[in-house]
This record gives sequence, structure tokens and C-alpha cells, in this order.
Amino acid sequence: MERHALLRNIPKIDDILRRFEKEVPHVSSALITELTRTYINELRDGILRGDIMSLPSMEAIISELKILLKKESLLNLREVINGTGVILHTNLGRACLSDEAANAAYIAAKRYSTLEYNVASGSRGSRHSHIEALLCKLTGAESAIVVNNNAAAVLLILSAIGSGGEVVISRGELVEIGGSFRMPEIMEQCACRLHEVGTTNKTHLRDFSIAIRPDTKALLKVHTSNFRIVGFTQSVPLCELSDLAHKNDIPLIQDLGSGSLIDLRPFGIHDEPTVKDSIEAGVDIVSFSGDKLLGGPQAGVIVGKARYIEKLKSHPLARAVRVDKMTLAALEATLRSYLDPRSALLTIPTLRMLTASPYELKNRAEKLCTMLQQRNLSADIIEDNTHVGGGSVPCQLLPAYVVAIMPAACSVNALEQALRGLERPIIGRITSDRYLLDVRTLWDEDFSYIAEMIGAYAR
Ligand SMILES: *Cc1c(COP(=O)(O)O)cnc(C)c1O
Repeated sequence: MERHALLRNIPKIDDILRRFEKEVPHVSSALITELTRTYINELRDGILRGDIMSLPSMEAIISELKILLKKESLLNLREVINGTGVILHTNLGRACLSDEAANAAYIAAKRYSTLEYNVASGSRGSRHSHIEALLCKLTGAESAIVVNNNAAAVLLILSAIGSGGEVVISRGELVEIGGSFRMPEIMEQCACRLHEVGTTNKTHLRDFSIAIRPDTKALLKVHTSNFRIVGFTQSVPLCELSDLAHKNDIPLIQDLGSGSLIDLRPFGIHDEPTVKDSIEAGVDIVSFSGDKLLGGPQAGVIVGKARYIEKLKSHPLARAVRVDKMTLAALEATLRSYLDPRSALLTIPTLRMLTASPYELKNRAEKLCTMLQQRNLSADIIEDNTHVGGGSVPCQLLPAYVVAIMPAACSVNALEQALRGLERPIIGRITSDRYLLDVRTLWDEDFSYIAEMIGAYAR
């Protein structure tokens, strides 16, 4: 057919719509009209360019529109399958919640709740009450408050405690967390002057003691979450620093970054101190993230001495960085799991992934590998290492068992791209000629989906 004839014979929009509505009832007519119009315009452009030489059948048009409609209805923020092995992948949403935490958030979201209501007295309650006692029990602190994230926690602490004076910090701990969150700039925002002491590699107690002046508001310690200085180094032990602070009647503040609630050393994670350690060493205010090693929702948890936490609660910024009910519900459920640490290791995905034994990982990798081989795919297992991620545990790699796939039908890059483009995208890594999936961050129940999708593209 020549071009003009093709253009003349393009089905009318109304005909397509009538046909579509008969097949797929209850679709927003505005949406489907828009999709149809776009489709017809593209068809016309294709004909004019000479790319399209024959018209699609009505059936083909309808099935194409169904695909477009499905794509249109996908949420932008949706599930992905994380095959990178990075447990706290900030771009993929950091910690995954336990069932208990996710259910608590779900109910808090859908229904009314006791958020700020005391059922015993029938009067107004406090949103902090739900987690304060739990946090105190788990960390040994006197008091607690939760805000939106740890960055907000640091902002609130420095504003409430440090503003109008100086805060002393070691030059080795002037951390940039990423996303333009840098300690010196945050202090500027909080109207407190940064007093740097020591050097990059060594800071002594006397560096802090001679820095303390009448307008010194606090000493600050920042966990070097995302880097380490090794070699000829020295920092001041927490208990010496807290003694010094208390002699001068100022608080010692610590930004712990991840802040684990359980000792992870038995599982081979060495550089992450627990919150309890800090409280026992006399730190007055400790802040840490909810969605790093804790394995809960995004939140900034602050625990410490009641006299300081009270100041934070009543500061005007506290309202601006107030945590929402879904987060609080998920956090309370997560914290409750920690009352029995052994069950926490099983129910909190972050902890389960972190503490998975090499034996278990190898077995799971073999299971996935076999499922791929059963589909005639070329797959084997390689031993590798992965980071924990989320700006935590920077110097330690976890042993990994990675399933490596060599596609026959397409290039490794094409496979990676195709899996990334799925409705439920699969995110893996690429080496020179193989596509890698690390089972540590996968759920076994997704193995058959993964095998099916890879089979569809790679065989
Ligand atoms: C990650 C981190 C932060 C920021 O925490 P968010 O919860 O991501 O806001 C602040 N300080 C340190 C030391 C960190 O590691």
C-alpha cells in the first residue's frame, strides 16, 4: 500500500476506543483516549518516515494498547529484586522491614491509631511514648526521641545543644556522609562554631581539654562510618572523653551512624560499636539511623540523658523533623524484635542477610544455579566479596557466593538491561562476560521468577 492509502486507512480513534472498552471494561476513558491518541500519532509518524509499510490489525492495536496501559499503571516507586549483594543499598531503599514491622506500618497507615492518644486516661498522649521505654531498655539510656533520619537527628542535637557556642571535634572525624551532608557545614547551619582539634590521624585527650572554653557547648564524636584512617593513628577513648566533658559540665555527643543494637562481632563484623557501649562509656547523647544496621524504617534515633533529651523534645526544630506514624509503628515493631536477639536475627531481613553463614549462602546459590541450568542456561557459582553498604562497615567485605550467568542469546549488557526493564526489575552486576547475582540479598521465593525471566532473554 502506498503512504497515502496507509494514512487514510488508519483506524478511527472512536472505533479503537469502542473495541477496547468492550474487551477491557472499567478503564479510565481519559487515560485510554490519551494512550490511543499517542499510539495513532506514532503510527502516522512511522508511516510518514517510511518505517511502517503496513497497518497493524485491530487485534494488534488492542493488544499493544493493553501493554501501554499496563506500563502506565505501574508505580514508579516499586519493588526491585536486589541481586547486588549490597544489603544496605541506599539507592534500593536500604533496610527491608520485617513482616512484623511492615504489618504494623500497614495498620497504622490504614486505620486510626493511638499515635498521640492515651487509651488508659482517654486524653492526649505523646508520640514518643511508643518507643521510648523500648529504646531505654535496649540501650541502657534514660530517655529517647525519634526524628526523620539521622541527618535530622544531628541537626536537632547541634541546634538545641550547640547553637551560639562552640562544639569541639577531632580533625579525623569531619565526615561527609554523602548527599552534601558534611559535618562542618551542618554545624554552620546550626549556628554553632566548629572547633577542630588534633590532626587527621591523631587526636589526644589534651587536644580536647585545652580547647574547652567558657562558650564550649559540647564535645562531639562522629563515627567514621564510611571510611577508616589506618596506620599511625590515635583517637581518644569514649570514657576519657566523657569524663572530660562531665568535669566541665558539658555533654559528650556521639553520631554513631549505623548504631547496632546487638554485638555483631560473633558474626565477623568488627567496626560497628553498639549503642549500649556508648551509653555505658558515658556518652550523653547518641544518635543513629533506623534503616542501617538496625534494619528498621528510615528514622533518626536519639538516646541519652533525660536532661538533654528534654531539651531536644521542646526545641522548635523537633516539630519540623517529626517522625510520621507509619515509621513509628514500624520502628516499634522492629525494636520489639530485639527484646529477643535470637529471634531478631531471624525476623529482621538486614540481620538475617548480614549473619547468613557461608554454608547457607553456598547452598542457596546452588539451588538458584540448578534452577537456571534446568532451563538450559549456562550458569555456575563463583566465590566473591561484597560490601554491606549504606555507608557502614567500610573496610570489611562479606564473603559471597555469586551465581554467574553466561547468556547465549544476547550480550551480557543486553541481558542486564532487559532484566532491569522488567515490571519487577532484577538488578545484578556485570563482569566482563558474565551476569552476576549474589544470593545474599535475594529471597528464595523469587528464585523461580528470576530463572524464568533470565530464561526468557538469555537462552
Ligand atoms: C549515615 C550517617 C548519617 C546520616 O544518616 P541518615 O539516617 O542517612 O540521615 C549521619 N552520620 C553518620 C556518621 C552516618 O553514618
